[in-house]
Amino acid sequence: MLHPHRRTVLGGLILGGAALAGAGRAAAGPAAPVVRVDDSRLAAIVDPEAGLATLYAEGRWCEGPCWAPALGGLVFSDVKADRILVLGPGPAPGRPATVRAPAHNANGNTLDGQGRLVTCEHRGRRVVRREADGGLTVLADAYDGRKLNSPNDAVLGPDGAIWFTDPVYGITEPEEGIQAEPEQAARRVYRIPEPGRVEAMTDVLDQPNGLAFAPDGRTLYVSESGASLNPEGGRAILAFPVEDGRLGRHRVLAELEAGVPDGLKVDARGHVFAACIDGVRIYHPDGTPLGRIATPVTAANMAFGAKGRLYIAASHAIHAIDLKA
Ligand code: MG
Repeated sequence: MLHPHRRTVLGGLILGGAALAGAGRAAAGPAAPVVRVDDSRLAAIVDPEAGLATLYAEGRWCEGPCWAPALGGLVFSDVKADRILVLGPGPAPGRPATVRAPAHNANGNTLDGQGRLVTCEHRGRRVVRREADGGLTVLADAYDGRKLNSPNDAVLGPDGAIWFTDPVYGITEPEEGIQAEPEQAARRVYRIPEPGRVEAMTDVLDQPNGLAFAPDGRTLYVSESGASLNPEGGRAILAFPVEDGRLGRHRVLAELEAGVPDGLKVDARGHVFAACIDGVRIYHPDGTPLGRIATPVTAANMAFGAKGRLYIAASHAIHAIDLKA
C-alpha cells in the first residue's frame, strides 16, 4: 500500500502529465499509440493500449538484453561504450550496475543450460561464458584454424549447445569493435557442442544477425541483415527446419521494406518478435505480420523477463512493455 503523502504526490504528477499531454495534443494532434495492430490476433499477445516504459536512456548502443536473475536482473551490453550492465528487477530499477567493463565491445548475451551468462564479443572476436567467480571461459574464437569475424548474437539450442551468428560488424564498424580483415570466407551460423569445438551450420546468409528457436526446437529463425552494408543485400527473417541437429532448406518468414531485422526472440506460443527500424515487429509462425511495438528509434534486440515483461534495447535506451504472458 502506498503512503498517503506519496499517493498525493503521485496524483499530482499524473495530473501534471495529463495537462501537458493535453497542451501537446492541441498543437501536434493525438499521440500515436505504441502498439500498432495489423491483425486482431495481436490483442492476445499485447494489449493494444499498452504503453512503453523507459528504464534507462544513457547508453550509446544498447544490445544483448538478457533476463538473468542470478546476476541481478536485466543484463545488457552497451556495445559502443564497451561495457555490460545490469538493471535491477522491478518497474523503477534505478541506475544500472556494471557487470564487466571493458567488455571487448560485447554484443549479444544469452544464458546457457546452467544459467551462466554467454556473451558475444566484437573486439574479442569470440564467444565467452562467465563463471560464478566472474572469470571467463572461451567457448569459441576460431573456426577451421582461423579467427571468427565478430560474433553478434547467441542462443541456447534445444540440443544444449550454444548457437551463434558471425557477421562482420565488429571488424568493419569503427565504434563497434576493431578494424580487421575477415579471415573467414563466409559469415556463418555456428554451434558450440563443447568449449573450443565449433561446428558450421549454414553459410547461406550474407550477414546473419539475430537468431532464435521455435518452442519445439524444430525451427531456427535467423535475421539476414546484409542490406545494412550493401544496398542490394537482404533484409529478411529466414526459417530453417532443424532436422537431426542439422539445418534444412530455409524459407523466408518475412521480408522488410526498409532497415534490417536485428535481434529475434520467439514466445512460448511460437510468435516471432523481430527488432526492426520502426520497433519490434511480431509475426505469426506462418509469417503473417500481426503488428508492431513502436520504439522512438531503431530497436536492436529484446528479452523476455519475469511476469510477461518484454525488454527492448533501442539505441541509447532500454524500454519495457508488459505482454499478455
Ligand atoms: Mg544483432
